[in-house]
Amino acid sequence: MSQKNIVIIGAGVAGLTTALLLSRKAGYKIVVAAKHMPGDYDIEYASPWAGANYMPVSVHGTEAAKWDQDTWEPLADLAKNYPEAGVHFQDCEIHSRAKDVGSATATWFAELLSPSPWFSKVVPNFRLLPKELLGPGIDSATVFTSVCINTAIYLPWLVSQCLANGVVFKRAIFKHVSDASSSGVHPSGQVDLVVNCTGLMASKLGGVEDASVFPARGQIVIVRNEAGKMLDVSGTDDGDEEACYVMTRAAGGGTILGGSYQKGNWESQPDPNLAIRIMKRAVAMCPSLTNGKGIEHLDVIRHGVGLRPIREGGTRIEKEKIDGMWVVHNYGAGGAGYQSSYGCAKATVSLIEEACGIRAKL
Ligand code: FAD
Repeated sequence: MSQKNIVIIGAGVAGLTTALLLSRKAGYKIVVAAKHMPGDYDIEYASPWAGANYMPVSVHGTEAAKWDQDTWEPLADLAKNYPEAGVHFQDCEIHSRAKDVGSATATWFAELLSPSPWFSKVVPNFRLLPKELLGPGIDSATVFTSVCINTAIYLPWLVSQCLANGVVFKRAIFKHVSDASSSGVHPSGQVDLVVNCTGLMASKLGGVEDASVFPARGQIVIVRNEAGKMLDVSGTDDGDEEACYVMTRAAGGGTILGGSYQKGNWESQPDPNLAIRIMKRAVAMCPSLTNGKGIEHLDVIRHGVGLRPIREGGTRIEKEKIDGMWVVHNYGAGGAGYQSSYGCAKATVSLIEEACGIRAKL
């Protein structure tokens, strides 16, 4: 088999996981070319801002649920066997308030809030929380073992795994998806296939310009206080654009207090009023953060804003010919880019093999 020369555009979790899985196969010379790389913090680069945990909202029987399901084992394997990847196990409590039933968030979270979601058979220790352990205003809750990823460790770890497998990394900004094959970014000078992992910026990349991709703004506060577990709730009293979750990252990564889900909002700067609401809600939901004291007892590391790359219709994993070149897309994972990363990358690699004539169409 002759070597296939591949350019992957994007070094977020989608591009890096795709590069990792593809680099484990023989016969590919892979270049990851991106405007932003691990270590950068930018509003066009979602991956560093994520919590990130495994908390599926995908609906039973859908492709999205399959991608999430295919991702659990690889993440659990990292948490169990590779501490250097910055992934650890933590209990995850999902709280439901009866007053949220019918709200946009609770409807979107329906599977997650269910007492028997599809993933109850995938994650360990799924159970209902006894009534006497429910906090004020909470009507029911489930709890399971999940993982939390320290993205500041995990993204560079993905790069190091790719480098060990011979992947080349280059900085580049492409105006058009076809530029990835003609710009000389690949050392061979000739490219067989381009993989598009541009996240939110797939909405602006020439040749793609996907109008169904838009941001859901997520504002967070990172604190030194520890929660000891992860928590999420079906809604807040501050409207559907606001959320409340807490997760402590592995290996000293701090605790993420979230958040918001502001659709169509590209604002990169933290809103100080929203930050106060985030901290107040987090302390009310998880009093152990401050030993029952107020938000002035939170030890803030920094405030942050990331934009989840939402796509109407869900993540796009498809192949198409653009200007005579095969392009395989893997973008638009919204708030699920980590928890679906291995499933999406596996599906993307299958399409790459199909387009390169290495695998028959499934
Ligand atoms: P990105 O990380 O945005 O990467 C895009 C890459 O493409 C970058 O390298 C960029 O430079 C490059 N690029 C784009 N356009 C061009 C161009 N024209 N030329 C060259 N390079 C280009 N997910 C979870 O699974 N669990 C969570 O708990 C979770 N929590 C989150 C919390 C917040 C606050 C936010 C904001 C997101 C959260 N997410 C979570 C979602 C997750 O972060 C995203 O789904 C994921 O990071 C998207 O990754 P990506 O690789 O598709 O895009």
